Amino acid sequence: MEQIANFFSNIPDYWRTIILASGFMLMWLVESAIPLFRNNTNKLGHTGINLFFTITTIIVNFFFAVLLVKASDFTTQHHFGILYLVKLPLWLHAILGIMLLDLIGAYLIHLLEHKVKWMWKFHIIHHTDPHVNATTALRHHPGESVFRAVFAILAILIAGVPVWLVFVYQTVSALLSQFNHANMKLPKWLDAGMQWIIVSPNMHKVHHHYSMPVTDSNYGNIFSFWDRIFGTFMKKNVNELQYGLDVFPEEDAHSYLPRLLKIPFEPYRAPTGAKFGKEKVKQD
Ligand SMILES: [Zn+2]
Repeated sequence: MEQIANFFSNIPDYWRTIILASGFMLMWLVESAIPLFRNNTNKLGHTGINLFFTITTIIVNFFFAVLLVKASDFTTQHHFGILYLVKLPLWLHAILGIMLLDLIGAYLIHLLEHKVKWMWKFHIIHHTDPHVNATTALRHHPGESVFRAVFAILAILIAGVPVWLVFVYQTVSALLSQFNHANMKLPKWLDAGMQWIIVSPNMHKVHHHYSMPVTDSNYGNIFSFWDRIFGTFMKKNVNELQYGLDVFPEEDAHSYLPRLLKIPFEPYRAPTGAKFGKEKVKQD
C-alpha cells in the first residue's frame, strides 16, 4: 500500500497519458475480438470527434489539476473531511476515499446532469453518440468537463483524500469508463456477476438507450452499488437497446463537431416518450 502511495504521489504526467492510451489500445483490441454490436463500425469521423472531446477534457482537467492538488493538500494538512473524523488504517482510508470520490465526483454529478436542464444540455453530446465504444468515455462538452472538475474538488474536500489517492482514483475511473463504454460482449455470467460491484459494459449500455426513462438509469462510473442503493439501477436486454437520443435524431447532432459544441446553447427539447423496445427512431 505504501509503495502504491509513493508511486502515485510522484507519478509524472506522461505516465498518466500512457495509462490512458494503453486503455484505449486494449479496449480497441477487445472490441475487435468480441464486439457487442457488429455494425458498430469505428468510422474515422466518429473516432475523430470523440478524440477531439477527449483532448478538450484533458485540457480542462490540466487547468483544474492545480486546484485539485491544492484541495487535497489542504485536507491532508488540516485533517479536513469525513475520512479524518475517525482514525483509519491506510488501506481502509484508500477504499472509502475511492468510494466517496466515485459517489460525489461521478455518480452525483452525473445524476444532476440528467435532472438539471442547463447541465443536461451540456451532457447531451455524450448521449448523442450513435456508436458507443471506448472512445465515448471522454466524449464530454468542455463545459461539462468544467462542472465535473468542480465536483471532483468538492468530493476531495468532503471526503478528505491525499493527492496520491486522487491520482489512483482518476486512473481507475478513466480505465473503468473506457471499459464500461467499450463495444464488447462478455459472457453473460461474467457481466452479470461484476454488476454487483462494478459498472459492467452491459449495465452502462442501458444508460445510453435513446429514450426515457431508460436514459435516466445506471449513472454509476466505478461502483454499481450506488445505483442499487439510490434506486436508479435498471436491467434491460442489450439487444433491444438503441443508442443516441430521441430528441436529437438529426445526423449533425451526433456527427458534426460545430453543432455538437453549440447544442448546450440551443433551446431545451423535452423527451418524446418513445417506449423501450418498441418503434425505433429514424436516424437519417
Ligand atoms: Zn448520462
